[in-house]
Amino acid sequence: MFQEYLTELTPSNFLCPRNGPPPVELAGDGRFILRRKNFVPAYICAFESGILQQRAAEAIEALRSCRVCPRNCNIDRFNNKIGVCKSGRLARVASAFPHFGEEDCLRGWNGSGTIFFGWCNLRCMFCQNFETSQFGEGAEVNASELAGIMLDLQEIGCHNINFVTPEHVVSQILEALIIAIDRGLRLPIVYNTSAYDSLESIRWMR
Ligand code: SF4
Repeated sequence: MFQEYLTELTPSNFLCPRNGPPPVELAGDGRFILRRKNFVPAYICAFESGILQQRAAEAIEALRSCRVCPRNCNIDRFNNKIGVCKSGRLARVASAFPHFGEEDCLRGWNGSGTIFFGWCNLRCMFCQNFETSQFGEGAEVNASELAGIMLDLQEIGCHNINFVTPEHVVSQILEALIIAIDRGLRLPIVYNTSAYDSLESIRWMR
């Protein structure tokens, strides 16, 4: 099943048709150069067609019996029941700032607009961010507040929005993304995952 899904993942799945043909780099050749003024994030097309809103609604509904990650806890996070990731209805944000420790292509000269989420579904014993992932550092934010954080990072010149440890809060990210787009978010999004994601949540983000 996973193999079948991988065959669906081509560069054109992630690029807005308005951008024209995929950059040669995505086909494994040359450099990835796309002028900012010509770049339209694929999420804008999904938003304009209404698909993003549908997927966000589906993702939030899925919290009622949570299978957002492969733990498949099936608990009602919509009503704040807690599973392995210890997260309820709202996402927890530990920190948000222009990150200059990321790779050059992400940090550029103004930093990558990083949002670190509290708690984690993977629970690695030797996590380097254990205060965030295991002790739940940070504060809960609603969708409007999370959208505001994205827009603040855009406002100060970050080159992208970089969600770190987002697997367990994909539903909340999608919910907030709709608000952020409506208020003017246009930056590329980096999904900085530990890769313990469910196929379902990856499909919501296509
Ligand atoms: S996201 Fe959290 S509650 Fe949902 S299945 Fe994964 S660990 Fe369990």
